Amino acid sequence: MTKAFDLTGRVAIVTGGNGGIGLGMATGLAQAGAALMIAGRNAGKNAAAVKALEALGATAAAVEADVTAQAACKALIAAALDRFGRLDVLVNNAGINIRKQPQDYTPEEWKSVLDTNLTSAFLCSQAAYPAMLKAGGGKIINIGSMLSIFGAAFAGPYGASKGGMVQLTKALATAWAKDNIQVNAVLPGWIDTDLTRAARKDVAGLHERVLARTPAGRWGNPADFAGIAVFLASSAADFVTGAAIPVDGGYSSQG
Ligand code: NDP
Repeated sequence: MTKAFDLTGRVAIVTGGNGGIGLGMATGLAQAGAALMIAGRNAGKNAAAVKALEALGATAAAVEADVTAQAACKALIAAALDRFGRLDVLVNNAGINIRKQPQDYTPEEWKSVLDTNLTSAFLCSQAAYPAMLKAGGGKIINIGSMLSIFGAAFAGPYGASKGGMVQLTKALATAWAKDNIQVNAVLPGWIDTDLTRAARKDVAGLHERVLARTPAGRWGNPADFAGIAVFLASSAADFVTGAAIPVDGGYSSQG
């Protein structure tokens, strides 16, 4: 069974892999033997992530990319193929939030959240499809949220994007099962990252509410995502597709 989790010789792209949950997943994939291509807008964060992955003995590279643009998604896939010669795993993790009451968003803010969190996953998956076909199959891992399931007053566009991510996952999973491409979503609970450090500043009482509601009694860490990434990227998960798996310390199980 150990071999089922081995990713030696596989190539993985992680969008938003230069920090937070994305880097947690990239680290797990690297430790299981995969070569990593990281995509993010910030060149400094990209370089630091590559250095951290290389320090683990991994092969890693990064592309400066804004995945809201179709051309950038195509260039990202091309860069991975150019550098590593194949593509096996795509993690659609890039995400942002703008926290406001629904009546206060501009159309541009709505579009920016939807484009970053949802449209990017569609565009990158579409761009990755021919390479995965060529490899004889592939794994796509989409990052949802507790707000794929629950509502929050301060997260209209974010919740819409993350709910959409689950439906996109199911559509891709059903369309591409015949091609041996498995597509699943991971729904993180409340995880300590740059994103939620900002949320804790903006939303009074959030920190305490999360602690009280999470049966595990703590916020999650990026390292909590290494295992699920390896599982979903590996042949151990060949019969798992279209699923939306919470990694939330029990948050979504508590009424
Ligand atoms: P971070 O802010 O640490 O990570 C977000 C990542 O996305 C960064 O690496 C950022 O890199 C990248 N990114 C943002 N916009 C773009 C873009 N247009 N093009 C390319 N990359 C982009 O937050 P998290 O690690 O918390 O978030 C990762 C994912 O997990 C997101 O999808 C988020 O919604 C989701 N999530 C997080 C939860 C949490 O509690 N933290 C809970 C549920 C879901 P750069 O700035 O360099 O572009």
